Amino acid sequence: MKTLLIDLNKCTGCYACQVGCKDEHCEQSWMPYAEAQPETGQFWMRVDEQERGKRPHVKVTYVPTPCQHCADAPCMKAAKDGAVYRREDGLVIVDPKKAKGQKAIKEACPYGAVYWNDLLDIPQKCTGCAHLIDEGDTITVPRCYDNCVHGAISWGEESDLDLEGAERLHPEYGTTPRIWYKGLPKRFIAGRVYDPIEKEVVVGATVTATGEAGTFTAQTNWIGDFWLRDMPEGDWEVTIESAGKKKSIKVSTTEEDVGLGDVPLS
Ligand code: SF4
Ligand code: SF4
Repeated sequence: MKTLLIDLNKCTGCYACQVGCKDEHCEQSWMPYAEAQPETGQFWMRVDEQERGKRPHVKVTYVPTPCQHCADAPCMKAAKDGAVYRREDGLVIVDPKKAKGQKAIKEACPYGAVYWNDLLDIPQKCTGCAHLIDEGDTITVPRCYDNCVHGAISWGEESDLDLEGAERLHPEYGTTPRIWYKGLPKRFIAGRVYDPIEKEVVVGATVTATGEAGTFTAQTNWIGDFWLRDMPEGDWEVTIESAGKKKSIKVSTTEEDVGLGDVPLS
């Protein structure tokens, strides 16, 4: 089975994958797989921008999010008359004719990957460029992959892709998505340490976060900043130590990343 591997460490958020998708699907229908994608309002290759943390400690990650072609697809379960089906190569297809009027297909997708076409009264989504696959096109398939000049998207047999460390997007949805990701954002704790008496940032302080999920350590850099990266969710005691001075702060990454801002160490 062929699939996509999307490496977020390489993704610059240039949206070229989305442009490639629109170039392929807008103003032209590829029946029996899809009617034309409207020029506005639908993003079969949606690029989600995730901004996390608090200024000045902010991270932005771009997450290209097409249909995940789930192995246990809620859209298939919600469809009547076989209006959503899975091809032998694993691609999940919405049949534009059978799906007419079936809004439940759109509402069933937890990834928000299905869009409603008011004009045609049909649900629409990524087809994996199935029409090109059928033509035997192995070079420009799918168009999002072809358009990504940063090498963030890989396409091929699942067994040929380097999936070490790869994860699925939102496995908690329980749909067994078939698209793989590397570099999915984890939590971070960040801050800037300064000495309020010297009125200077503290360089080389040791910052340690201890919690049930483990221990993470970092040093403050030349502007006093520390970043504890790739952390799991949980409650933490953050200890900052430098030249005999010590400070402890309790924080939680359960809901979101933590930007502590300026932290005095005196
Ligand atoms: S084309 Fe590549 S680098 Fe650009 S947004 Fe899409 S996946 Fe990211
Ligand atoms: S991502 Fe949504 S539309 Fe795609 S297969 Fe899964 S449930 Fe269906």
